[in-house]
Amino acid sequence: MKTPQRAVVYVRISDDREGVGAGVARQEADARQLAARLGWEIGEVIVENDTSAFKRRKVRTPTGRAELRVYRPGFRRLLDLLENGTADGMLAYDLDRTARDPRDLEDLIDVVESREPRLPVESVSGSLRLANDADVTMARVMVAVANKSSRDTKRRVARKMEEMAREGRYAGGGARRFGYERDGITINEPEAEAIREAAQRIVLGESANAICKDLDARGIRPVSAAKWSTNSLIGILRSGRIAGLREHRGEVVGPAQWPAIIDEETRGEVLAALDVRSRHRGKPSLRYWLNDGLLICSQCKGFLYGDYGNVKGKYRYWCRPDRGGCGKIAIKGSGAEGLIEAQVLEILADAGTLSAFASGASAASAAETRRAIAEEQEQLRALATAHGNKQISMAEWLAARAPIDERLKMHEAALRAIVPSSIRQVVESGDPAKEWNALDAHGKRQLTRVILEAVDRSGWEVAPADMTKARKFDPDRMRLVRIDTPG
Ligand SMILES: [Zn+2]
Repeated sequence: MKTPQRAVVYVRISDDREGVGAGVARQEADARQLAARLGWEIGEVIVENDTSAFKRRKVRTPTGRAELRVYRPGFRRLLDLLENGTADGMLAYDLDRTARDPRDLEDLIDVVESREPRLPVESVSGSLRLANDADVTMARVMVAVANKSSRDTKRRVARKMEEMAREGRYAGGGARRFGYERDGITINEPEAEAIREAAQRIVLGESANAICKDLDARGIRPVSAAKWSTNSLIGILRSGRIAGLREHRGEVVGPAQWPAIIDEETRGEVLAALDVRSRHRGKPSLRYWLNDGLLICSQCKGFLYGDYGNVKGKYRYWCRPDRGGCGKIAIKGSGAEGLIEAQVLEILADAGTLSAFASGASAASAAETRRAIAEEQEQLRALATAHGNKQISMAEWLAARAPIDERLKMHEAALRAIVPSSIRQVVESGDPAKEWNALDAHGKRQLTRVILEAVDRSGWEVAPADMTKARKFDPDRMRLVRIDTPG
């Protein structure tokens, strides 16, 4: 055996999560120490970064055939260097990190035995040597055993994933999920608040792009990028995760063991809004700030939602059947908004009225109220489950629900009455009309909500169109009302 003058060192980032970088550095240091002891000179160090050991793709083997293998570019390069004489020996950390697939080992053996004498191969742990037939046999046996246990591991992991999915457990892996701490279970409150806000703004018709820019401007960062992209934002908003749902292979499989950031109803609205958006791509951006309870159908008491009718560029508010409405009531969008804007500005002009409900509000109390709501909703879900499992009767279920429903209503009213900072700004400015016009759909809706709360009204009920009148906007159809059970 000649002493190698250009040995190649092959180290591999292993699958275990802890200290991957340090692992490689240590492997290389140990290999260099061994080389010094053996008197070998090192030519090149190949670092293999294959953390997904069992992905296969077609590779060309040293014998020229194309075969399906675990694809490891570093290992292929190692074989090439030995094959074409660039390297005259090989140093590895151990057998396990060199070849897990028996066919990879066979390729290595082919190259090693193609020279007379054989190309020298050594390993730090001593587990990989190919100096004679006994070494080769031993290596084959060890790789066969390792390969089997690797397949078993893969099956076990797949089974474990499915089991965890069924139990709603956090799978881990990858980057931290926005809205949650690294454990995947604990809510990160500032991020959760950003998600709730983004969800609400999407429902109101604001573009994902505008929300991304706003988040960037406010210094709210995504987990692993400097700036928001619409894809990353929409990906989060579409995920079942933020509604406390466990997904597996892209499907919701059931409730998760972590808390929800938005409730399932909101999730439904967000998905519907995103779907509407993709159907209306290329059309003018939606405004729809009167959505979600501000306009009420006089026929079924459902809420009207923004909708593009048949006329291009014109939109209306409609008791949409796809959201459980009756479909009978619709009103011209610009007309309804104009009327409400006029009424809101009238109240805004009276600074005295506003100062009454502009004080004492804070984002912290909003967050606290939302947490309280989430807790009540959690209780309702637990009750429903208990009833579903026949642990309690229908009568017990209804009796237990009543006080929770009562508290929920109270919290929700409190939440609506909280004045967000954007609205305080309008109230405190000298020119409310100018400030109002600068508000986005989200801000306008919030402000309108606050004002309705102050005058103890829920929204505007929309009456059917008077067929004897001309087909233009009819302000007489809208009436400020109070409703006790929305929807
Ligand atoms: Zn209706």
